[in-house]
Amino acid sequence: MHPGEVRIYTCGPTVYDFAHIGNFRTFVFQDVLRRFLRARGLRVMQVMNLTDVDDRIIQNAAAAGVSIREYTEKFVEAFLADMDSLHLERPEEIVRATDHIEDMVTLIERLQKKGMTYTSDGSIYFRIATFPEYGKLSKIDLGGMKAGARVDTDRYEKDDARDFALWKAPKPGEHFWETRIGPGRPGWHIECSAMSMKYLGDTLDIHTGGVDLAFPHHENEIAQSEGATGHKFVRLWLHAEHLIIDGEKMSKSLGNFFTLRDLFAKGRKPSTIRYMLLSVPYRRQLNFTADGLTQAENSVERLRNFYARLKSEKFGDGSNPEIGKRAAQAEADFDAGLADDLNTALALAAVFDLVRDVNTAMDRGEFLQQDAPRVVAAMEKFDTILVLLNDDDAERLGALGFGPAKPRMGAAEVEALIEERNAAKKRRDFKRSDEIRQQLTDSGIIVEDTKDGTVRWKYK
Ligand SMILES: [Zn+2]
Repeated sequence: MHPGEVRIYTCGPTVYDFAHIGNFRTFVFQDVLRRFLRARGLRVMQVMNLTDVDDRIIQNAAAAGVSIREYTEKFVEAFLADMDSLHLERPEEIVRATDHIEDMVTLIERLQKKGMTYTSDGSIYFRIATFPEYGKLSKIDLGGMKAGARVDTDRYEKDDARDFALWKAPKPGEHFWETRIGPGRPGWHIECSAMSMKYLGDTLDIHTGGVDLAFPHHENEIAQSEGATGHKFVRLWLHAEHLIIDGEKMSKSLGNFFTLRDLFAKGRKPSTIRYMLLSVPYRRQLNFTADGLTQAENSVERLRNFYARLKSEKFGDGSNPEIGKRAAQAEADFDAGLADDLNTALALAAVFDLVRDVNTAMDRGEFLQQDAPRVVAAMEKFDTILVLLNDDDAERLGALGFGPAKPRMGAAEVEALIEERNAAKKRRDFKRSDEIRQQLTDSGIIVEDTKDGTVRWKYK
């Protein structure tokens, strides 16, 4: 839409828990996308939301006796730290739903003025019948749908297309906002329409998310946005396919549900997981297995060893023009692979073909000292997108409180620090108490201040 710039909206996490590796598959794909667009000389303006209000968050926060912000804050921090561990670039804007209630109210008012909504028991619904194109993204069949049938939950199945809630009336004991359209809280879908258009304009270049968001979430975003503006909402939808574990759907009940930190705790490295998640093109299902992880780790090792060999080994004097040509070919193949709908498998094949050919040339004495900088340059070019060459796994793990880089703090030391923090609080030295809290957080200790004044803690 805008010369030299790509505007992207990304559905971010619901911050009620740690994100799982299926979520991170989508976030790694988005990282490759933005890095590739930049490598092609485009400016990227990416907005990602944090869903920090939904049914589960409201329930969990109420059960814990804390505010929504307090409840979600630790998961926001964990998510950003997890992103850093995988070298995922931060989008230009990371925005919270609860900071944009006014924008959502305004958008709902626009839909009300156009007669696309109705109110029932204090909740406001989008009337699908007023948007004849409804279903165009996910190609659902609305034949069996009863006009006026509606749904309150934000997540529902494809054969259950219904008028959906834009604004939900408060239930007793629930947190709500007092607004021009009445008391209540937003539905999940309206937040993405309101925030994407606020930061990126009525029409976005690219909207990304996991494939499970296509219906109902993205279908509803289209209805809300195009219903309000009369303009096309999104030019390109990119949906990452599912991640499955050992051929099965990941689920808590099957016991094959992993957060990133579960894998780190099992000794897996950030670079291994980044490699594994990016190696399968986003439109293909990714089967996550222990063997696959081991292969991924070996592949990263191979790249790092090759890079080290290029930089440290001494070769014969002179240069071999064939090597320069070979490197240029690999760069062209890498770029062509990514240009083919982000086919990362093709792009990686180009890299490993170069590694193999150059290793062979080195072994045969056909690789000369002046060839090294050219191949180093190619590897570093690939790495602006892959981000695997620098061996910083220990450091990344240490930052999350894992691994030998930072031995786990002993219980006695934790208790002593908590006592010191209590004492600091008592004498109103909040600077010191905050420092101690930060020190504990950095050491992988989760501290919970309960209502009755006692302090609970546990290892992350
Ligand atoms: Zn969304």
